[in-house]
Amino acid sequence: MKATRISKPALYQPKPLRQVELAKLLEWYQSRQRVLPWRTDASGYRVWVSEIMLQQTQVTTVIPFFNQFIERFPDVKSLAMAKESQVLASWSGLGYYSRARNLHQSAQIITSEYDGEFPKTREALLALPGIGPYTVGAIRSIAFSEPEPLLDGNVERVVGRLFAIDKDDHKRTNHWAASTYIMKFLSKRGFDPSDINQSLMEFGALHCTQRSPQCVGCPLQKTCKAFSIDCVENFPIKKVRPKKVKLTETRYLIRNRKNQILVRISLADRWRKGCFDLPLLSELGENFSVAGNSKPNKKIIIKLVVTNHEISRKIIQWSGSVRAPQNRPQIKFRWVSRSEIDENEIPVGAPLKKSIRAFL
Ligand code: SF4
Repeated sequence: MKATRISKPALYQPKPLRQVELAKLLEWYQSRQRVLPWRTDASGYRVWVSEIMLQQTQVTTVIPFFNQFIERFPDVKSLAMAKESQVLASWSGLGYYSRARNLHQSAQIITSEYDGEFPKTREALLALPGIGPYTVGAIRSIAFSEPEPLLDGNVERVVGRLFAIDKDDHKRTNHWAASTYIMKFLSKRGFDPSDINQSLMEFGALHCTQRSPQCVGCPLQKTCKAFSIDCVENFPIKKVRPKKVKLTETRYLIRNRKNQILVRISLADRWRKGCFDLPLLSELGENFSVAGNSKPNKKIIIKLVVTNHEISRKIIQWSGSVRAPQNRPQIKFRWVSRSEIDENEIPVGAPLKKSIRAFL
């Protein structure tokens, strides 16, 4: 195993007398930390699942998904033995389904190569699909108490302000160095690496927030460079974000006379492979003429316009009998029941669930 690389922040370092103030972060954490399901019994598996779910997703959204997932797949082996469709179904509503596929694939590797024992080394963890430096830091520090630093959005903001980091490269080298510095400094003084990283993340989430940092009475005020030079609002440095692209598509919500709903399953889409969604008109083929024949009392086909996941109903139309189109190499069609969708028996994206709840 490689030794943890410790480098000092390039731009700023607290004066030695002020460094001890960093320990107040831990005091703050002991009294202010939230009770979260993955904090009780912080095994490698539970930390891993929670961290993957928390990527791109808020804590409050993740909690019920995490509890449900752990109940269904309580350990690495049960996850490895599940079918991919079952794993995707449990992920329904969380989005970014490649995360679930990577979890499943990694669980199979851990089961076959490590007999289900969660690996502890950085190299072994980095070799698993979907695990990058942040997740390695979270798993090694929280589950195994190894002094491994991490950097997520909250930690980046906190260290950016503490060290007044006003420039960095795309790899966030200075922010990583600052996080590494804090880990080294506090772990050498006997603090648990799990608490160090979690306190930094929690401090960023609850106290040193993006829009309203609570600088008055802040336990780290004396060691905060941004505060001392009176320019907290300049940190973190603003990133130039690409303009949001407006994505509009037309999908069809189609029922047959047994009240089943027609879904398409993409076998090629990089992000949503294996997920069930409403079909696009272009996928339905010529047999599906939805113009004319309007009989609103028989609402079998509903045309939906979806713009960046916002759905609006455009036209309600009726078509005599409805047959599922033929499967193609990259798209499969299937009729599914409402209960299969509601009870998460199949992997369904949030837009499909949302439109069924809204319009059926
Ligand atoms: Fe954050 Fe303000 Fe505290 Fe500095 S003084 S760590 S900016 S809350």
